[in-house]
Amino acid sequence: MRTCPCCKKYGDVWEVELQSLDNHKFVMCFECDTIWDSIANVPDQHVSDFEAFMNEQGKDPDWTLIKKVQRV
Ligand SMILES: [Zn+2]
Repeated sequence: MRTCPCCKKYGDVWEVELQSLDNHKFVMCFECDTIWDSIANVPDQHVSDFEAFMNEQGKDPDWTLIKKVQRV
């Protein structure tokens, strides 16, 4: 399991899929909502969070649309 680069919490990091965004996949920490692109490329600092990311896409952040793929 992974440690979140932002809140340093261990374990609640998931690969997720966003159906409202063409099944876009990313990695997300469910403790602090930090997201990043891939399991293979973990940033060493805070990059973005779900809310900011969705705002960038011009969409409302809707946590119910997040589909958990697997715990990483
Ligand atoms: Zn976190």
